[in-house]
Parts: sequence; structure tokens; C-alpha cells
Amino acid sequence: MSTTVATRTTKSDKVVGETDLITFRRSRIHGTGGFARRAIPAGTKLIQYVGEKITKAESLRRCEAENPYIFTLDDQYDLDGGVEWNPARFLNHSCAPNCETELDEEAGEVWILALRDLQPGEELTFNYGYDLSEYRDHPCRCGAPNCVGYIVAEEFFDHVRRQLSLEREARQPVQA
Ligand SMILES: [Zn+2]
Repeated sequence: MSTTVATRTTKSDKVVGETDLITFRRSRIHGTGGFARRAIPAGTKLIQYVGEKITKAESLRRCEAENPYIFTLDDQYDLDGGVEWNPARFLNHSCAPNCETELDEEAGEVWILALRDLQPGEELTFNYGYDLSEYRDHPCRCGAPNCVGYIVAEEFFDHVRRQLSLEREARQPVQA
């Protein structure tokens, strides 16, 4: 006779993976996200962004195929983090991130660092640093009060905000 073991884990909060510092589970922002397991001081190296080291030519091919996980390593190589053994790929983008990526050029490693002190349970986010090409295909649902509405690098925030506000004005009925 088999016994059914009751589990309180529902699909919505199912833990899909863990490191010392991070729990991976369902995110309100998008899909699976990473969450701080405990209080973590600013500057902590949270997780290495690992992946496949690829040439610039291969990288271009994969970017054109809309691979969103590619990081620049140096003049010759990029890093494709879209692999199963890279849990850091689950971290979501935010317009007001609490983490950042850091490239250790000597080691050829990409790390995710805490930008500020993190509270237990906080979702870990960084800015994906996308450029403006087809940004409208990448709407942002980060929920930050200052959310730009699209996933773009911070240097493009003003540009996108200006563009969206011009479009809003154009849609306003002409006042008498
Ligand atoms: Zn946002």
C-alpha cells in the first residue's frame, strides 16, 4: 500500500533551487526569480553568472536569434548564460534593481553583487542593460514606482520616457 505524503508547497511558491544565499521560486515579476535567503550586506558577491564562452561571431548569431542571456566578456569572447547550469539566469530585471553585474576581467567571470543591504525574502534583481533595439518587444513588469515600462539600460531611461510621453500627448484630444 502506498502512502500519500501531504505537502504544503503549492505550485505558486515551489522552490526550484537554492544556494547558500538565494532561493529560486516563482516571481511576481516574471517566471522564476531569485530571493535572498537571509539578510545580505551590500557588496556581497551573490552568485556567479556562468555560461558558455563563445566567440563574437557566435554571439552575434545567438543575439539575432533573440538569446537574452549574453554578456560581454572581452574584445574576443562573450558569455552565453542561457544554460541549465546557470541558475543566475533566473534573476529578473528591474528598473530599480537591488543588485548589479560585475565583470572580473582578469578572471573572465561575471558576478551578481548586492547593490545595497538586502532583507530576507527580497527578490534579487539587476538591470539587464538592453539597448534600444526593439525595446518594445520587452515590456517591464518590475513593479518599481519609477518603472520605465520597458527593459532597457539605465542610460536609455530618459529617452524612453520622453518618447512615451510624446506619444501620450499625441493621443490627447485637442483642448478647446
Ligand atoms: Zn520596470
